Amino acid sequence: MTPSQMASLTNQSVRTPMHALITGGAGFIGSHLAEALLARDHRVTIVDDLSTGLFENIQHLTDHPRFRFAIDTITNDMVMDRLTSECDVVFHLAAAVGVELIIDSPVHTIETNILGTHAVLRAAHRYKKKVLIASTSEIYGKNNHVPFSEDDDRLLGPTTKARWSYSTSKAVDEFLGLAYRKEKKLPVVIFRLFNTVGPRQRGRYGMVVPRFVQQALAGEPLTVYGDGRQSRCFCDVDDVVRAILGLAAAPQAIGQVFNIGSTEEISILDLAKEVLRLTTSGRRQTAEDDRITFIPYDEAYEAGFEDMRRRVPDTTKIQALLAWEPEIRLEETIRRIIDFYTAEREGA
Ligand code: UDP
Repeated sequence: MTPSQMASLTNQSVRTPMHALITGGAGFIGSHLAEALLARDHRVTIVDDLSTGLFENIQHLTDHPRFRFAIDTITNDMVMDRLTSECDVVFHLAAAVGVELIIDSPVHTIETNILGTHAVLRAAHRYKKKVLIASTSEIYGKNNHVPFSEDDDRLLGPTTKARWSYSTSKAVDEFLGLAYRKEKKLPVVIFRLFNTVGPRQRGRYGMVVPRFVQQALAGEPLTVYGDGRQSRCFCDVDDVVRAILGLAAAPQAIGQVFNIGSTEEISILDLAKEVLRLTTSGRRQTAEDDRITFIPYDEAYEAGFEDMRRRVPDTTKIQALLAWEPEIRLEETIRRIIDFYTAEREGA
């Protein structure tokens, strides 16, 4: 890459209209990112094989003059070559996600994550395009020194437990991205997403908030795994998208890894109670205890499943660079998710 090419890539800002390629763009986060980019006057192409992404997530965008989509896999080199050559920046979000999917389909997880990222980076390198790689808080494994900061050690379980293949595959993606940066000077940014929630997230692959909301709306008991005292920090997808766009626009982010997440911690049992409170307001309430059922981890996942007790990001780094912090409270996000699923149930 010539110094002038480097300078133009480094100065690339999301404030001037650009053409973004989003892999996994029909997924929950990808579809919100596509909307946000279009709202900021950019062009958007998404590529998604609809394995976990859904056409419904992007259906409302298909008539937009600056939106295009390709239903294909990112390991299709010919397609990726063309799409990458036409864009200015790649947001690589395509990945096998969700704890249940990872346990049920370990081959798919490993192949999609590692081979997919490899294909994306090779194409980006061919055309010297900036790449933002979505990674995950799973990277930290079962390290219980919260909050997790980007340079913390990773503590993983044995290879005989499928859960750890996800963390490992995403770590290989990060290594690969950083290696392309170091050795080939490709502008790469890595962001680690912590629990992200919002409308369009599905409970099918295990994610707790949509599951609880759907269970509550159906009048079914909420399935709390383990003792419910494990905790998470849930960040609204709109806040997450704002952080990703900020990183895309910041030349100083290149070659770096950033946590993105909320630092407001809640136990899963309290989350269940909050979902019940917000779904039953104005209606006759059944005793909370009758509406929560505790399920042992072995039954919920697989024998010997190890859950993370706490998962809290240290967000000092992204705050220092972008002055970013989450703005949307969990209660508001849960209300939006309730509205989303209520509309879906009513066939709206
Ligand atoms: N969980 C639960 N009931 C469910 C689904 C998940 O209690 O129906 C728990 C799960 O065991 C974990 C937490 O909720 O402790 C968050 O799960 P999720 O899969 O959403 O995210 P992750 O485990 O990846 O942080």
